[in-house]
Amino acid sequence: MTMMRSKSFFGMGQPGLEYTPVPAGIHRPEPIQPAGPVTLLHLRPPEEKAIPALKIGAAVKAGQRLSLYGTSDYVTAPVTGAISALAPFPGSFGRSYTAVTIAPAQVGVHDDALLQVHQTPSLAVALDFLDATPGLPGLQRLADAERPIKTLVVCGVDQDLLVFTQQYVLGARGHDIQAGIRVLQQIAGIQEVIILTRKEAVQGYGHIIGRVMGVDHRYPSALPPLVMAGLFGKVVPAGRTCEDLGFCFMSAEAVASIGSAFSTGVVPVNKLLTVIPKNGVPRLVEAPIGTPVGDVLKRFTVTISAGDRIVTGGPMRGTAVFSLDYPVQADTDALLVLDSTAAANVSDYPCINCGECVRVCPARMQINLLVRYLEAGKYEDAEESYDLNSCVECGLCSFVCISKIPILQYIMLAKHELARMRSTETP
Ligand code: SF4
Ligand code: SF4
Repeated sequence: MTMMRSKSFFGMGQPGLEYTPVPAGIHRPEPIQPAGPVTLLHLRPPEEKAIPALKIGAAVKAGQRLSLYGTSDYVTAPVTGAISALAPFPGSFGRSYTAVTIAPAQVGVHDDALLQVHQTPSLAVALDFLDATPGLPGLQRLADAERPIKTLVVCGVDQDLLVFTQQYVLGARGHDIQAGIRVLQQIAGIQEVIILTRKEAVQGYGHIIGRVMGVDHRYPSALPPLVMAGLFGKVVPAGRTCEDLGFCFMSAEAVASIGSAFSTGVVPVNKLLTVIPKNGVPRLVEAPIGTPVGDVLKRFTVTISAGDRIVTGGPMRGTAVFSLDYPVQADTDALLVLDSTAAANVSDYPCINCGECVRVCPARMQINLLVRYLEAGKYEDAEESYDLNSCVECGLCSFVCISKIPILQYIMLAKHELARMRSTETP
């Protein structure tokens, strides 16, 4: 499996900068089964010599929690079978993973550990079983006593253009979402629930607990910091998070997964994703987490030629991957394939100070100056003098940059490096 790298992707002509509603012809997801092994990406702890607790050959069941290093993070086996490989996997921005490959053996066999305890929901149970579930709920955010979450924001909107995965879930899985909200209220002391949907679609969610609020159809209004400012009138200060202000944004799919898990005792393992093949006709598919993207694309007889680009996520914020073995992950909401003729490459051109990036930036950052510090690796200066932490990661600057500078990728790398430096400085 080759390394995944982040690369700017902004070459698909001129996509309208408006979110895409669920297309009229999409009624249900198309199920996809992996043709062979599945692979899970388990974040490695910082210690160089982390030794996996799981071994090659170990039997696993679908829904089983697999903690490789005795840390609080884990992956969930999406199939029943045996671990067939464990290998280092370099991720983007210097992240280190271990790729856990599982060869499926039996269909229909599921781990029953949650079944024993699902009728008495608690945050501890949710953290133990559901933190890697489809939609990636980020349950640790609900467990911080110093930063209590009062408001749960259920995101039935998508975070990127062309993607309609979360909108579909909000429309199709109201029963599971309702169950998930009840559980989260019970286990995490949530006081207020807000359901985010498109402004044009605020009607029809009366069966789900919570206040329904509509997000503007123009990108990037659905990104959490912009929702905080635009809908709730709360500005998230630079370097702080929505959680610092007591708000937790969780995808509709994550909430539905939690609801379904506590209702049935079965850990969900299938991810929904919008697939946009080269012909541009979008599909909605459902595949076990860990399914290679090549197996998903085979379903649509997509041939990948030299120069084509595969992007996980949408056109503005997605990440290019360079192997068909790259797996669908718990938060992979979309898979986009670009023909080589449509895929724009980054360039080595310098910034020409045109100011386009500054004009489009919703955070009103001086990007033309910031980018010089980022290119030179002067991340602390970029943070102190040019508001690095105000960036909401919308990608509009990269989209408009005439020199095709991968500005968003520079920003994400800088944020990651600063966080890494600080975590190693912490005694
Ligand atoms: S990604 Fe670019 S345009 Fe968007 S907020 Fe960050 S700096 Fe501004
Ligand atoms: S859009 Fe690109 S070239 Fe223009 S000022 Fe911004 S970084 Fe420089």
